[in-house]
Amino acid sequence: MRVFKFGGASLKDADGVKNVASILQRYKGESLVVIVSAMGKTTNALEDVINAHAKQTGQAQELYNALKEKHYAIMRDLFDEGDDAFAQVHDAFVEGEWVLDEAPNDNYDYMYDQIVCIGEMVSSRITAAYLNKVGLKTTWLDARDVVATDNTYREGWVIWDKTRANAARIVTPMLADGGFVVSQGFIGSTSENFTTTLGREGSDYSAAIFSHCLDADSMSIWKDVPGVLNADPRLFDNVIKLDRLSYKEAIEMTYYGASVIHPKTIKPLQNKNIPLFVKSFIDPDGSGTEISSDTEDTYPPIVVVEKNQALLHISTLDYSFVAEHHMSRLFGKAADLRIFVNMMQNTAISFTICVPNVPERLERFAKDIADEFKVKVEEGLELITIRHFNQETIDNLKKGKVVLFEERIRNTMHMVVRNVPAIERKAVDIPGSK
Ligand code: ADP
Ligand code: ASP
Ligand code: MG
Repeated sequence: MRVFKFGGASLKDADGVKNVASILQRYKGESLVVIVSAMGKTTNALEDVINAHAKQTGQAQELYNALKEKHYAIMRDLFDEGDDAFAQVHDAFVEGEWVLDEAPNDNYDYMYDQIVCIGEMVSSRITAAYLNKVGLKTTWLDARDVVATDNTYREGWVIWDKTRANAARIVTPMLADGGFVVSQGFIGSTSENFTTTLGREGSDYSAAIFSHCLDADSMSIWKDVPGVLNADPRLFDNVIKLDRLSYKEAIEMTYYGASVIHPKTIKPLQNKNIPLFVKSFIDPDGSGTEISSDTEDTYPPIVVVEKNQALLHISTLDYSFVAEHHMSRLFGKAADLRIFVNMMQNTAISFTICVPNVPERLERFAKDIADEFKVKVEEGLELITIRHFNQETIDNLKKGKVVLFEERIRNTMHMVVRNVPAIERKAVDIPGSK
């Protein structure tokens, strides 16, 4: 059996749904689990609803209604009036309505997950119903019955044994029954049956969870790009497609921010040696990228840019050396607050780390260690990673930037940079120059 994943970009409108169905026609009769994300930018729109509800701005219901109408408009293009799909989607939206009818929960992350999941519930209902309509037998599955997590809301940790057992008990018989199974990415549930999410853009990871637990022969993610490229085409020209990548290369790229694949996706696949294909939903005949274990290790320079980084300059208050027990405390605190350290460097009495800039977490970090350390935060930075670098690539990337921090380890180079602001050049009177 195989697992496919279609993301928001592939399902952004009625034509997108039709295109997904036409791709799936090619696989008619195969044993296929299809994982879908929310349509287009639905998750961002649901975040706006949640924020409005949390702050009680009075706009939550209005924003929610607009999102509902957007989905119903897509459905009117796909289904005849009175189709069962309308009732199913209506029921999915009611799930969110219940949360909005109550006062905002003190636990923001919990409330977030109970509402944001609606995007995937609705898109999966629409996709499954449409596939059935065009003659592709499909069973709809609630991913929350399969993907078991702890109760870390917004970043649920998968409980693998339980998820594996659920998959065998629920999904395997569905597949044996013939046809496709359509389910949601991004979501899971706690042992008390509350919804959790796996982190933004987590649907690729969901597909990998299903692939791992069902021992899939392969997994394919269908994107708006021809495959994995050697840099993000939104940021760079003249990018090239990488035909084959090793798991190791893919995990390094995604860890440092190549957003084409969610970073947690590779491990569950590597652990079972399941190949991952990155394919284009615009050009399904294109060869795409194959990520697997057996590839020769020669690559062109690969560039990954992670924006919104901060440098934390941490120094001891009493001029004592930064010693092992300090490191242990600093890393323990970072882990507790879920601050992910991308790079680090130390001198005798200071320690500098590059981390994603999440201001509330960084403020808390500084406050919690204030008895021993002074923390200076430098914001508005980018982390550029170059794998298989050469001097020409480095020089090109440095243009127009101030490099604050740089490190090379074997075939990887990291730079923390600030873009040089375009300042108006003025003639300056230098004393004594006349
Ligand atoms: P999905 O529809 O599954 O959510 P995403 O939009 O998250 O898909 O991922 C596809 C996007 O990833 C592309 O449109 C591209 O801009 C971006 N991207 C970033 N880095 C790369 C890369 N190295 N190769 C290809 N695409 C990349
Ligand atoms: N819909 C979710 C998000 O936008 C999950 C995903 O698309 O992968 O973050
Ligand atoms: Mg995405």
